[in-house]
Amino acid sequence: MCGIVGYVGHRQALDVVLGGLHRLEYRGYDSAGVAVLDGAGALRVQRKAGRLANLEAQLDADGRQSFAGTAGMGHTRWATHGPPVDRNSHPHRDAAETVAVVHNGIIENFAELRAELEADGVELTSDTDTETAAHLIARVYATGDTAGDLEASVRTVCRRLEGAFTLVVTHADVPDKVVAARRSSPLVVGVGEGEHFVASDVAAFIEHTREAVELGQDQVVVITREGYEVTDFMGEPAQGKPFTVDWDLSAAEKGGHEYFMLKEIEEQPDALANTLRGHFHNGRITLDEQRLADQDLRDIDKVFVVACGSAYHSGLVAKYAIEHWCRLPVEVELASEFRYRDPVLDRDTLVVAVSQSGETMDTLEAVRHAREQKARVLAVCNTNGAQIPRESDAVLYTHAGPEIGVASTKAFLAQIAANYLVGLALAQARGTKYPDEVAREFADLASTPAAVQKTLATAAQVRALGREIADSKAVLFLGRHVGYPVALEGALKLKELAYMHAEGFAAGELKHGPIALIEQDLPVVVVMPSPKGRAVLHSKLVSNISEIQARGARTIVIAEEGDDAVRPYADSLIEIPATSTLLQPLVATVPLQILAAEIARSRGYDIDKPRNLAKSVTVE
Ligand code: GLU
Repeated sequence: MCGIVGYVGHRQALDVVLGGLHRLEYRGYDSAGVAVLDGAGALRVQRKAGRLANLEAQLDADGRQSFAGTAGMGHTRWATHGPPVDRNSHPHRDAAETVAVVHNGIIENFAELRAELEADGVELTSDTDTETAAHLIARVYATGDTAGDLEASVRTVCRRLEGAFTLVVTHADVPDKVVAARRSSPLVVGVGEGEHFVASDVAAFIEHTREAVELGQDQVVVITREGYEVTDFMGEPAQGKPFTVDWDLSAAEKGGHEYFMLKEIEEQPDALANTLRGHFHNGRITLDEQRLADQDLRDIDKVFVVACGSAYHSGLVAKYAIEHWCRLPVEVELASEFRYRDPVLDRDTLVVAVSQSGETMDTLEAVRHAREQKARVLAVCNTNGAQIPRESDAVLYTHAGPEIGVASTKAFLAQIAANYLVGLALAQARGTKYPDEVAREFADLASTPAAVQKTLATAAQVRALGREIADSKAVLFLGRHVGYPVALEGALKLKELAYMHAEGFAAGELKHGPIALIEQDLPVVVVMPSPKGRAVLHSKLVSNISEIQARGARTIVIAEEGDDAVRPYADSLIEIPATSTLLQPLVATVPLQILAAEIARSRGYDIDKPRNLAKSVTVE
């Protein structure tokens, strides 16, 4: 999410910071801003919604010479709290305009902090979580033992913040320093000759230096011209991890990967953790902008999930969870079909509209149709302030961060997680689950980022397999229960990326037709349910695999670790960590993404930009 650059040195900070922000543009953003310390006690700030060009035009209009100074910072924002407008753009300042803060991430307890500041008479001028940090740091800097000590003030405030954040802070009274802090959000230091940098990633400064230091969790760094100093949030000296960057600029943007999609596959544990963050508080599930009362959720008698592509598959997964947890009928519908077939909707229908961009025209039209019929609409979306959330009654944001690869990976897993949260919120409001059961389901969900991290360790095995089957004419994918949407998603990834004929089937349907497709050496990927969680289905799938193996297919089996019963039928076995039955799609999808990417790569395709596809489909 977003880009951050901080600089202290011998060059004009504005040039360095704008150059760095341009290099971080690939991360995606919706607004940008800069702050420069002029060395004589003034802090100059400018910020603008939209592209960096808007900010640069404004700086030209202001006169760039008024931003002279050799210490400063810049930010490209990916809005999470409040729409992308000028007043929500970073840097944020305190009332006296002496402290400036830029922030990447989410401060979970910002509502409490905001209420505390407002009770003290502070007037907040933006909708962001970030602004609270600026006021708090200014307050701590002005009083008590931390008075006049910027790094100590930042540490004190960081100890109060919950959530994920990288903060970069400057103070008008401290013209020769930039202070930065991180928790669960990226921050690296660049070490130059008489100059130092902090940034979201090395791409921001590799034209100036290739010597970098990675900061650990809960660390604060102070950069000056001469050096940098790292401490933990308690002020104890700490060590960063120095490294030399040997990537070129294009690899640096991709975190050393050949493609953004490969980076995004690896970011999935964070995307999931960020999506779940802040949604379970005081024993209750809370959604984001919940403009539906609990009573509305109790009145619902039917749920539709409308979506397209991978988002539609996330809806198919949701059906299993919501029907099981809430005893409510759920229909999952392709958004492009929805409004053309006269669906039965009324004010007791909840329509969940899932779209990464929040601009998907088919889904937007479905939302409009649903609202005309008086249904209540909840958007699940990855882009703050986009059209679909704006036209919906409620919204739950997936905080996957910008996704650059056209084929969805981290946004898809985040959509599944968000849909589960919707299911738990419904179960809680309707009392179909006791509070302790909701808490247990949430705890299970909260353990999935670690399970996905573990699943990523299958990458080398899956890639080798991908290379072996890259010349196949077609690949089939089979699954049952929640494994069925996973099979559909695996097939879609392969079509999108490798332009290969691929089909996903419910394994029980095989004998009703598709088994006729099985021929010698045809790769068939099978997603096995847990032998413990779904024993009956498990044994039925084992029979399905033995049928296709007997007809010469090459079986590639994704199964829970320790699933020995399936081993004899698997020509290749990919083991994934055990999860609860309903949560398995979050781990089982990962090897299928890696498989599709590797097949595409070995066939020589650009996996970030598959032919004929667009990231955001704004036509019907
Ligand atoms: N939560 C902050 C905001 O909405 C920062 C978002 C970001 O990471 O850019 O302004």
